[in-house]
Amino acid sequence: MPELPEAEVVVSQLRDRVLGAVLKDCWVGRPDIVRQGIETLDWYRGTNIITIQRRGKSVVLGFSRNHETRYFLAELGMTGLLLFRSPHASYQKHTHLILSLEGGLEPELRYWNPRRFGRIYLFDLTGLERFCHKRFGCDPLTVPWEQFRQLVMGRRGRLKALLMHQQVVAGIGNIYANEILYRARLHPYRMASRLKTQTIRRLYDAMQEVLLDAIRNGGSSVRDFLAPDGTEGRYQRRHLVYDRAGEPCLAKCGKRIRRLIGERSSFYCPTCQRRK
Ligand SMILES: [Zn+2]
Repeated sequence: MPELPEAEVVVSQLRDRVLGAVLKDCWVGRPDIVRQGIETLDWYRGTNIITIQRRGKSVVLGFSRNHETRYFLAELGMTGLLLFRSPHASYQKHTHLILSLEGGLEPELRYWNPRRFGRIYLFDLTGLERFCHKRFGCDPLTVPWEQFRQLVMGRRGRLKALLMHQQVVAGIGNIYANEILYRARLHPYRMASRLKTQTIRRLYDAMQEVLLDAIRNGGSSVRDFLAPDGTEGRYQRRHLVYDRAGEPCLAKCGKRIRRLIGERSSFYCPTCQRRK
């Protein structure tokens, strides 16, 4: 399930391999994957890819022709992938969209998703900005400390829910929320509005450290994640709590990692992350 670090890995490979390429053709196998703007698809043929960026957990490509730019936003959802080629013949089945490219280092970009959660949107700039403004809160890698402090202090509710709320902080899902809270030594059910400034600072630092470390390690290949070139991430080997229920805490506190079943599973150490 791609989160911010995986989307960042995708963006980085796309920039290296297809930025500047011309879109020769676009094949859509399942039109319902395109949730908005499919009627504008013809416009994109013959345009150049001029920007590639991440918004939350989504990847946004900008296509340009005669000074006009339109966008293509791909939500990776639970299982979506953007791939340069099928890593295996079995991937053909759930490839729903293929962009044929010329002038870059890859002849194709494929959108693969075995489930229906992933979506593609086609926008002009106003449409893109409106969508992003509505869906995505601040970016955890660039949000200034003071803004983050005020945002946490002003929220009712549990910390883990806050970290995963895309309209508050965009890009963190279940894996990284667990890893961040463990490193910040905060119980997932602590109330955001009751934290002291120095505790919020610990959370802020842990958030950025975990996400940057995950990006450096190619993201986490839990379930199906693959980078566009078909390689797996390595950060799953560095997970300290996620999916480690029953295993010893790596801080050597003597306790075992516990799992709380809520909306999504929380993994935490009962000693290192006290509820208070
Ligand atoms: Zn511990």
